[in-house]
Amino acid sequence: MERIAVFPGSFDPVTKGHESIVLRALPLFDRIIVAIGENAEKRSFFSIERRVAWLQELFSDQEHVDVSTYQGLTIDYCRKVGANYILRGLRSSPDFEFERGIGQINRAMNKTVETVFLLTAPEHAAISSSIVRDIIRNGGDASPFLPERIHI
Ligand code: ADP
Repeated sequence: MERIAVFPGSFDPVTKGHESIVLRALPLFDRIIVAIGENAEKRSFFSIERRVAWLQELFSDQEHVDVSTYQGLTIDYCRKVGANYILRGLRSSPDFEFERGIGQINRAMNKTVETVFLLTAPEHAAISSSIVRDIIRNGGDASPFLPERIHI
């Protein structure tokens, strides 16, 4: 059976931290679908079109990485695309607490989907999309935290 993982997130915008998780997870899966969850309650800073375009540009050389968007529950999206794994990154204990709740609920809803966590590389532990947004909003240079191919 093909090992397909969904890497769900807002990617608002994609950072070096996200890029590193996907590249490190590539040997573990046959295919990774980087999927932007469209959340009606959460207003994004960058449009869905820009976020998709950045992810497509970033992973254009990776034939085992697809980029997509979805609405609704991640677990339902996994079923729809035939994914048995959800990929998430962990930076800190608040990340862990948050992910534990979601991971356990997802597993209660569908036992065939396992969540796989990769610990962030130490040099990416402080990077978050929200910090990058703050820097951009205030006219700073966010490029040290963005993938090299991405210019905002
Ligand atoms: P969400 O809105 O679901 O939190 P994000 O786009 O912020 O989505 O993050 C998607 C995934 O990437 C999450 O699992 C998050 O923990 C992980 N992630 C974000 N930043 C980093 C980083 N610097 N290092 C490792 N993982 C990260």
